[in-house]
Amino acid sequence: MLGEPAYRARQVFAGVHQRRLCSFGQMTDLPGDLRAKLSERAVISTLTLESRYLSTDGTRRYLFKTHDNFPVETVFIPEDRRDTICFSSQSGCPLQCTFCLTAQLGLLRNLTAGEIVEQIIMALNDAYGVSVRTPRGTNLVGMGAGEPFLNFAELMKAIRIMAERNGLHIVPHRVTVSTAGIVPRIRDLATIADRPHLAVSLAAPTDELRNELMPINKKWPLRELLAACGDFQKSLKAGERFTFEYVMLAGVNDSDEQARNLANLLNRHELRAKVNLIPHNPAEPLAYQPSPRERVETFRGILEAKGIQAFVRRPRGRDILAACGQLAARSATGQ
Ligand code: SAH
Repeated sequence: MLGEPAYRARQVFAGVHQRRLCSFGQMTDLPGDLRAKLSERAVISTLTLESRYLSTDGTRRYLFKTHDNFPVETVFIPEDRRDTICFSSQSGCPLQCTFCLTAQLGLLRNLTAGEIVEQIIMALNDAYGVSVRTPRGTNLVGMGAGEPFLNFAELMKAIRIMAERNGLHIVPHRVTVSTAGIVPRIRDLATIADRPHLAVSLAAPTDELRNELMPINKKWPLRELLAACGDFQKSLKAGERFTFEYVMLAGVNDSDEQARNLANLLNRHELRAKVNLIPHNPAEPLAYQPSPRERVETFRGILEAKGIQAFVRRPRGRDILAACGQLAARSATGQ
C-alpha cells in the first residue's frame, strides 16, 4: 500500500504496538512525506478516554468511548511482580447473569480486535508513559465487560496481534480468557495450539440454581459444559492452567452442602482444575451480598478436603467500581 516497501509496514506496526506511539508524526524513523500521508489517510487510535478512576489500592479503571460512542472499560491492576490488565471484549454484554452489573447494559456491540488491543496500549501508556518500556511483565485477563467467546474471532485476532515480538509481545501464555460457558467455543479453543488460558465461570453446583443465576445454562447445562471442560483438559500441555470461577453470594450459593456438591460434581467429571472463589462485589441495584469471610473460608476448606484446589480472590478496585461484575460505565469518585 502507498507504494512503500514492506519494511515500512513493520516500522509502522512497531511504532503503534511496541513503542505505543499515539500519532504517525511521532514515528521519526519514517520519512516526513510518509508520515504526512499516513496522518491524512489513517488513524492510530480510535478510543477516546472519557474518565479515569484511581482506587485506594492502586487499581485504575478507564472508561473509553469508541468512535461511534459506545462505552469500553479497562482495568489496570498493579501487582508486586507483574501488572494485570483486565480488558473488555464487548461493549455491554448479552448474557443476563443476575449478579453482574454489566448485564444491565445489554449487548451494545462487539469490539474489534483493534479496540481490544488499544485498551492495553492506552492502559500501559497511562501507567508508564507513552513509549516507556514497562518495568514489569504484563498479564492480561479477558474478564472485563462482555462474553469473550461470543466475539471469538476478534478476540483471537487481538491475542495474535498482542503476541507479536515487534509489538506488545504479550504471549498467549500470559493471557487468561473467562467464559460464562459457551460450549462450542471451549471445544474450538481446545484445538488451538498457541492459545490463552481458560477460565470458566460456574457460580452454582446445580442446574436449578445455575439456570437462575446464569441463564446461559439453559442453553448449555452443567453436564454439557463440564463434558467440554473435560475434553479441554485432555488438550492441556505441561504447565498449562485451567480454572473455574465461583462468585460467592451470601445465602445463595455458599452453603456447606453446595460446597460438597461442587466438589463432587468436579470430581465426578474428573476435572482437576483449580477453583477461584470470588467474593461478590456488591453494586446497586443488585440484590446480592458478598459471603462473609468465614463462610468463604469454610467453603474453601470443604473443597480442599475433597481434593479440589481452591483459592480466594482478593477484590481489587471495589471503591471505584472496577472489580469483577462492576463494569457498567458508571461514574465513581476518584480522579
Ligand atoms: N463473561 C465472562 C467474563 C466476564 S465476568 C464470564 O462470565 O466469565 C468475569 C468474572 O466476574 C466471572 O467469573 C463472573 O462470574 C464474575 N462476576 C460477575 N459479577 C460479579 C460480581 N458482582 N462480583 C464478583 N464476581 C463477579
